[in-house]
Amino acid sequence: MSRALPLPAWFDERFGADLYHCASCNYCVDAVWPERGLHHVCATLEHHSPAPGYSGRGFIDTARALLEGVALDAGSVAERVFTCTTCGNCETSCPIGLRPAAIGGALREVLSAADVVPAPVRAARDRIVERGGTSEPAAGPWQAAAATPGDGVAIFAGCAARADGGAATALAGWLAAAGIAAAWQDDGARCCGAALAELGAVREAGAWRDGLNRGGVPRVVLGYECLNHLRAGGDENASSLLAWLDDGLAGGRLALALRDDVAVPRVRLLESCQLKPRPARALTDDERRARELLGGLGVIDDAEGYPNRHALCCGAAGGMPDVAPESASRMAAARLGGDDDALVLTLDGRCAAHLARSSTHEVTDLASFLARYTRLSRAATGS
Ligand code: SF4
Ligand code: SF4
Repeated sequence: MSRALPLPAWFDERFGADLYHCASCNYCVDAVWPERGLHHVCATLEHHSPAPGYSGRGFIDTARALLEGVALDAGSVAERVFTCTTCGNCETSCPIGLRPAAIGGALREVLSAADVVPAPVRAARDRIVERGGTSEPAAGPWQAAAATPGDGVAIFAGCAARADGGAATALAGWLAAAGIAAAWQDDGARCCGAALAELGAVREAGAWRDGLNRGGVPRVVLGYECLNHLRAGGDENASSLLAWLDDGLAGGRLALALRDDVAVPRVRLLESCQLKPRPARALTDDERRARELLGGLGVIDDAEGYPNRHALCCGAAGGMPDVAPESASRMAAARLGGDDDALVLTLDGRCAAHLARSSTHEVTDLASFLARYTRLSRAATGS
């Protein structure tokens, strides 16, 4: 039975200008412009369904129709907007700066509040609430670290990095070997709420974020989804591992070198959507930092074209692995490409975990790469 979906007043206030300025140019649907790095736009259209209702323009058309009182079936709307990776590519390709991905996210919020969500989304949301995060909390040396960083570093690892064998464990060992104290701020391994926000449970996500003990000190956040979520809540103390490392290296307090007791592979950098420039997102400069850091270490052959702001999503985000696992795997395989035997390095641990699960390529995240192939030390001349 069809169920109508009235939109709240805030929808028009927030997105009215986007809804009525869309030029219907279809750039966000199927643009191809190789000179600009645009090789199609939407991972969902490419690897799940070519129906326009799944596209950014589809979200705009849907929201406008709902606003004008057209009785679309809420279940069908939910099926479409929750089968989106939330990658934002439709926004980076829109020539007039509209926000179709944000509109899709807002439709998720409305649907979630009305309790009209696909069964896999409901199950994923319930799992997160029950566990306190996207993965089972895993024990590791990161849990036993010092309570006060002193001249060390405060860290919020986040769900993906805390998973068994994840980046947090590797990072703990890397920092300890350098004699750098780490104060882990994971508050009993609770999610910061980013994973709930992605599934449309925006109010709950805000409450989880506000409930975190931030300690009021600058801290490194490992997952970029977490970092974006915390910053969106006004947390100006949150920054990234790369920003911390870059600052320490530039300030002469830290030194970094390749280990000489392991063979270091050639590295291919792969973009993560959470670092894509989006309206209302505080930008990080981490892709440039990664290119320069790894280039300086001599481990990347060719980073020309990285980062490509139009790179297609690998399928890790937006709940895609829960809603449409086969489509999410196809996205990962397409993202990784053919026979390249380079180690694939992507800055966001969640992308790395999804890519590794979906292929035989060797894939790593930045923290795990640094821990395995580099040696960090306090610089002898540092202050
Ligand atoms: S956010 Fe990404 S997956 Fe979703 S509609 Fe836009 S381009 Fe497609
Ligand atoms: S949202 Fe932007 S890119 Fe998409 S159809 Fe409208 S104007 Fe074109």
